[in-house]
Amino acid sequence: MTPNSSRTRFIVATALAGVAMLSWPDASTRASATAATTAIVVTPVNVPADAARPAQRLRLGDGPIFPMQTTPRCDILDNFADPRSGGRTHEGVDILATRDQEIYAVTDGTLTLQVLAGSSGAGASLSGNLWTLTAPNGSYSVYAHLSGFAAGLSAGSVVRRGQLIGYVGDTGNAGPGNYHLHFEWHPGGGAAVNPLAVIVIPRECAVY
Ligand SMILES: [Zn+2]
Repeated sequence: MTPNSSRTRFIVATALAGVAMLSWPDASTRASATAATTAIVVTPVNVPADAARPAQRLRLGDGPIFPMQTTPRCDILDNFADPRSGGRTHEGVDILATRDQEIYAVTDGTLTLQVLAGSSGAGASLSGNLWTLTAPNGSYSVYAHLSGFAAGLSAGSVVRRGQLIGYVGDTGNAGPGNYHLHFEWHPGGGAAVNPLAVIVIPRECAVY
C-alpha cells in the first residue's frame, strides 16, 4: 500500500449501466462502456454523503474513464508515489497486461506530446513510446511503455474519450516482457494524483 492509499478508505458501489451507455454513443468506446456497466466505483470517503451516490460520482461528462482494454489481463499495481531511482517517485500506476492490449483516451482532448522509444526525446529511455493527452480543462493523462501508436495519430491530433490511441508494450525501462501500461492523471494540469482514486475500476481488473 502506498502512503496515499493507506490514509484513505474506499467505498465500493455498483455503477449505473444505462447512464454509461447513453454517454458514450460512438462505436469506438463500446468496449469501455460495456466494461463500465459491470464496474465498481472507488472513491474516497472524505466527501459529503450525498456526493457518494453512484449517479453523481460517475460524472461521466468530465471524469476520466479506465485507460485500457481489460482482457486478457488487467492487474493493477497500486504503486502511486512509490520511490524510484535517482530520488524520483512513481507518478502513476502500472497496469499489467499482455502485449498489444488496447489503450484508450480517458478524456476528450488533444495529444500534446508523443515520445518515440529509442529517440533522443526527453525521458525516452524511461518512458519508451509515450502519449500525453490534454483535456480542454487542462487536466492531462500520460500513457507510457507502448508497443506502438494507433494508426493516423500524431502530436496535435484531437481524440475522443474512449478512442483507441495505442497498444500495451514493454518499451523504455519497463523491462523486456514486462508488458504494462504506465498511466498518470494530472487534474487541472497540476501534480499527478493516484488515478485509482478517480477512475472507475472494471470488475475484470484486480488491484494489488
Ligand atoms: Zn510506472
